[in-house]
Amino acid sequence: TEAFLRRADKISAVGQMASGIAHEIRNPLAAMKWSLQVFSMDHPEHKQAFNAILDELSRVDGIVGELLMLAKPQETRFESVRLEDILSVVITLMRSQAKRNGVQLLVDMEPNLPYLRCEPNQIKQVFINLIKNAVEAMPHGGLVHIRAARHPEGGVSIQVTDKGVGIPEPLIARLGEPFLTTKESGTGLGMMVCHKIIRDHHGRMDIHSVVNEGTEIVIVLPASDG
Ligand code: ADP
Ligand code: MG
Repeated sequence: TEAFLRRADKISAVGQMASGIAHEIRNPLAAMKWSLQVFSMDHPEHKQAFNAILDELSRVDGIVGELLMLAKPQETRFESVRLEDILSVVITLMRSQAKRNGVQLLVDMEPNLPYLRCEPNQIKQVFINLIKNAVEAMPHGGLVHIRAARHPEGGVSIQVTDKGVGIPEPLIARLGEPFLTTKESGTGLGMMVCHKIIRDHHGRMDIHSVVNEGTEIVIVLPASDG
């Protein structure tokens, strides 16, 4: 047990260091963003360049945020949570980005679903990442359909479906590799974070996709009553 504890200590020390570094990176980023915004007001002629820098700063911030998520020590606290409560927060968070892209978010939930056994913030993150990808896959807008139902083998299954660009077969197998992205300003960390969180929850994720037709991602999560 002693060796085990020492190992656990080390892991959490690494996690703490990583999160410390992440905050050290985020604070100057926020300061840079702020200064840039002030500066850009005096120089409207350089608006495009300022926006490009702001976008890149946001990107670095996003990468740090995702790494922070991965580096977090396993202090996962599982709770009994209603999927509805998780999804309503996620939809509220994602609605404006969806709207900007001409995408409608539609949620269909079977009534009386069992409660989930999960760390709600992590599961929120999973849905945020999946919905974000679905929205980004439909450059001309459309519908992202989120459906939740009781899984026949127990637990709850949640489907996120889009009619977007789809994922080529060889790429599907590689999803979850770090920094794998086809987007100009993607991080390639979203799916990796999803995989890790779902694995930690003893859940499952299946991906079905057809190029130029769309993508369906199905997650199965355990219910809190076993
Ligand atoms: P990012 O979104 O930053 O590129 P992700 O890990 O979230 O990173 O996704 C990795 C890649 O998987 C994306 O760049 C994209 O090519 C592909 N992908 C994921 N979800 C979808 C989707 N719903 N439709 C089409 N492609 C997707
Ligand atoms: Mg993504």
